[in-house]
Amino acid sequence: MGALVDLLLPGGCAGCRAGTSPWCATCAAALGPPTVPVLAHGPPVLAVGRYRGPLRHALLRYKERNRRDLAAALAGLLGAAIDRLPPVPDGWWLVPAPSRQAVARSRGGDHTARLCRQVAATRPGVHVAAALRLDRRAQESVGLDAEQRAANLAGRVLVRPERLPPPGAVVLLVDDVVTTGATLQACSSALAEAGTAVSAALVLCDATPRRRTAPDPA
Ligand SMILES: [Zn+2]
Repeated sequence: MGALVDLLLPGGCAGCRAGTSPWCATCAAALGPPTVPVLAHGPPVLAVGRYRGPLRHALLRYKERNRRDLAAALAGLLGAAIDRLPPVPDGWWLVPAPSRQAVARSRGGDHTARLCRQVAATRPGVHVAAALRLDRRAQESVGLDAEQRAANLAGRVLVRPERLPPPGAVVLLVDDVVTTGATLQACSSALAEAGTAVSAALVLCDATPRRRTAPDPA
């Protein structure tokens, strides 16, 4: 039914469909606050909000129902989160965490890379380097625990050297959901091995069990 409504009634609020685009006042109030997931490994992470409510709903519609028109609403949230970070002289370089290739093909492109491109299109000084890809042996991670996720990704996040950000770039790894941090850790390690340090990670949705509220920007 939801899919049918999406088809018949495009536009509207990304969270509830009923209100005004991109987010109605009710959904906008339910998006935050940004969180800092507490992870054992990997780069420091800033999340736009918890994996629930209108944010989760919008992300699932964007990803699973291929509602590409929601990219702008979601990218707007990522862009606003970048605005909270300290400015860097030559701008942030966004490196999207890769999707499995078969999944990306079925969705008509990589959904996280699309969000990154959209952020860069609306923010001068933000660049995108889609320098990572997943080996075919990496499996769908839904249902795997932290250890299994790490094992699933070990050695399977591959770098496209020709797409790496320039030397000295300040890199922000971007993903849609953080659950155990295994993906961010694997991506960060692969980039580090290629000589590219990740400063921090930015994700839309925080699905981790432990977090604290992000401090207000200075
Ligand atoms: Zn709404």
